[in-house]
Amino acid sequence: MGANLAALRERIGAACAAAGRGPEEVTVVAVTKTFPASDVRILAESGITDVGENRDQEAAPKAAECADLDLRWHFVGQLQTNKARSVARYADVVHSLDRARLASALGRHARAEGREVACLVQVDLDPGSRAGVLGPRGGADPRDALAVADAVAAEDGLVLGGVMAVAPREGDPAEAFARLGAVAAEVRDRYPRARTVSAGMSGDLEAAVHQGATHLRVGTALLDDRGPNVG
Ligand SMILES: *Cc1c(COP(=O)(O)O)cnc(C)c1O
Repeated sequence: MGANLAALRERIGAACAAAGRGPEEVTVVAVTKTFPASDVRILAESGITDVGENRDQEAAPKAAECADLDLRWHFVGQLQTNKARSVARYADVVHSLDRARLASALGRHARAEGREVACLVQVDLDPGSRAGVLGPRGGADPRDALAVADAVAAEDGLVLGGVMAVAPREGDPAEAFARLGAVAAEVRDRYPRARTVSAGMSGDLEAAVHQGATHLRVGTALLDDRGPNVG
């Protein structure tokens, strides 16, 4: 882990330097899906402050096991409305808010829990893929993003944080992240405090940094099939 994290910080540092940005502008969200709570603990000891999960069934018990750690929990996976109640209990940030109905469910449960949940509007950068054999990966059509942002902003218990996207499987991630940047600017225009741009994963974080990402969701570059390597 030590080595992986140092290498990651170096990559991010180089990407920030190339983009004329400061490394402090970029937060690493360590995506710990499929890895046990003990690995989350190791990451926290190495200075990771933000962790991400994509399935509620896995995230809820892991967050409970790590309740003694001072971590911010990010829910980054597709979210069914019937999981909103559970997610509202532990998530500090939901990256995958992509429809008004989900905002209303999440808001209701956040209020019931007395919590405040930050939400990012997930934008589908490849709407043509929706009918594909692999099925939709979630995300609002870019043309609907502002309306989803309005739905989040209107909901007590939710705070609009900004936008999120996953690069399409095909094509140039830089071009896709530039389109996300345009949506982010539109949202910021209406909601100046919604400054988060969650984009970039292990394979395309340089392009994301270059296009203004503030949060990188990093899995494999930090955790491989041997788990964290604390050498
Ligand atoms: C798994 C996952 C990541 C991390 O991907 P890596 O390529 O392993 O860095 C990022 N975002 C989402 C939504 C994920 O599900």
